[in-house]
Amino acid sequence: CGIIGYLGDHEAAPFLVEALKRLEYRGYDSAGIAAIDNGQLDRRRAVGKLVNLSDLLVHAPLRGKSGIGHTRWATHGAPTEGNAHPHKAGPVAVVHNGIIENFRELREELAGHGIGHETETDTETVALLANLYLSQGMSPVEAATSTIRRLEGAFALLFLFEEDDNLMVAARKGPPLAVGHGDGENYVGSDAIALAPLTDRITYLEEDDIAVVTRQSVEIRDANGALANREIRTIRLDT
Ligand code: GLU
Repeated sequence: CGIIGYLGDHEAAPFLVEALKRLEYRGYDSAGIAAIDNGQLDRRRAVGKLVNLSDLLVHAPLRGKSGIGHTRWATHGAPTEGNAHPHKAGPVAVVHNGIIENFRELREELAGHGIGHETETDTETVALLANLYLSQGMSPVEAATSTIRRLEGAFALLFLFEEDDNLMVAARKGPPLAVGHGDGENYVGSDAIALAPLTDRITYLEEDDIAVVTRQSVEIRDANGALANREIRTIRLDT
C-alpha cells in the first residue's frame, strides 16, 4: 500500500518509519523495513500499527544507510508478520503495492526449479524469481529487470540487493511511484507526501518505467528499455 526507499548518508530506519507514518492515511494492516548494514541485508516486520514496528525497532534496532519500507494492505495472504513486506529471498528484498496476477504460474515455474514459497503472498514470488535470476549469474539490475518483465498485473515495486548497498531498482505498472532527488542521497516513494521530509524534488515514474537509483544517480528506462528523460518537479506541500 505504501512504499519508501532510502539511499543516503544517515541511518535509514528513522527516515523509513517517518515516511511510512506519513502514508498511514492510505490504510494498512502491517508494516516492515529492510536495510543493509556491513553487507548484511536484514529486516523487521510487525502486524498492526506502525507503533508496533517502532517498538520492535527499539528492542531490535535495524542499522544501515540503505533501506526500503512498506505498509501493507493485504490482498493475497492474511495480515501476518510472515506475509508482511519486505519479502526476502536470499540476498534480495522487495516491497510491492498492488497485485501480481500471474503469480500462480510463476510459483509453478519456481517449483520446477525446486524453489518453494514460505508465505501466501503474490509478492514473495517476485523476490524468489529475482533470486533465481541472480543465482543464474545475472547482475542485480538484470535480475530485477528480467523479473519485472515477467510480471502481469498492477504493481509498484522496489528492490534492494545485499551485494550492492548503493542500488535500488524501482518499477511502476499501475500504482504510482516517484523518485526523490537529494544531495548525494536519493529516495523512492509511493507518493510525494512520503518523500516530503526528505526532498521536494520529485520525478514521477510513468507506466512501465524502471528506475535504477544510486546515491549519485537516477536512470529511468521506458517500456522499450530506452533511456527516458523524465521531468524533475519541485513539489510544494504544506507539511
Ligand atoms: N498484494 C500484496 C500483498 O498482499 C501487496 C498488497 C499492498 O498493496 O499492500 O502482500
